[in-house]
Amino acid sequence: AKSRGLSQYGFYQPEMAEATAKKTRMEQMLRQALEKNELLLHYQPQICAQTQALVGAEVLVRWQPAGQPMVSPAQFIPLAEETGLIIPIGEWIFRRACEQYVKWRAQGMRDILLSVNVSPHQIEEADFVERFVAIIEETGIDASRVVLEITESLAIQEGEDAIRKLKTLKQRGLQVSMDDFGTGYSSLGVLKLYQVDSLKIAREFIRDLTDDHEQRTIVNAILAMAASMKLKVIAEGVETKEQFDHLRLQGCDWIQGFYFSKPLSAEDFARFAGGGRLF
Ligand code: C2E
Ligand code: CA
Ligand code: CA
Repeated sequence: AKSRGLSQYGFYQPEMAEATAKKTRMEQMLRQALEKNELLLHYQPQICAQTQALVGAEVLVRWQPAGQPMVSPAQFIPLAEETGLIIPIGEWIFRRACEQYVKWRAQGMRDILLSVNVSPHQIEEADFVERFVAIIEETGIDASRVVLEITESLAIQEGEDAIRKLKTLKQRGLQVSMDDFGTGYSSLGVLKLYQVDSLKIAREFIRDLTDDHEQRTIVNAILAMAASMKLKVIAEGVETKEQFDHLRLQGCDWIQGFYFSKPLSAEDFARFAGGGRLF
């Protein structure tokens, strides 16, 4: 019988080949992104719901390949995780963010929190704790200002090793926050086990907060539970005054979202922090 290729079975499609080629190209480009200086950091303000004062910044990485459109982290972080590139990239992000924070402080900025996303793959690395501690010492950042945002999937995959490592970092003064809370499998038990200091309510729950009764019930339940566990809660993806008002009245501690500000360059963040002036 004549070979008719894989396409008759429906699992070889030209679009698939194209997607694979595109991914390979992107991987090659990403390998060089660090040395080519194509990565940069943006900082999204986090606001106290009660006083509307600036309380923190979430560090969000950006990739601007030369002559190409900006690539979203939602695209290249998964690729970086798949290829192991998240290790050098994640380390660069943490060092760069700490350096920036120390610089801001020297320029007179208030003592805010600096939240950094940490991928499960980074925590898995045998020398994760040593590397992060080294960066803290080398940059001179006050460790108690650093918040590591971890994800719920970590809780499932890594278990005791991750718990032990995060505990060591917590003993050095760092804080831990559970990102995208409510979307994964995490439970109260997991929050306790990881000794998190705060949790972030996923954007998915905030989006329909004001017109979906069910979402509202979930958000209110998370807020009540967090309060009883003495955990701080930050709502992300807050875009409207209605969402903000609801969260504030329900006792949410901190707010992050376009309603207050999109992620900003370091320069714009400094301006934001200073209310128009530089601090
Ligand atoms: P995330 O950690 O949940 O980050 C929040 C995302 O929501 C950011 O997208 C932010 O720009 C976006 N966002 C903030 N406020 C609003 C809002 O009011 N409305 C809407 N619609 N979106 C809002 P971004 O920067 O594209 O990052 C996407 C994801 O990529 C992040 O989700 C995080 O999982 C990952 N990521 C970003 N930076 C880093 C990083 O430095 N390290 C690691 N490991 N992952 C990162
Ligand atoms: Ca995050
Ligand atoms: Ca998040």
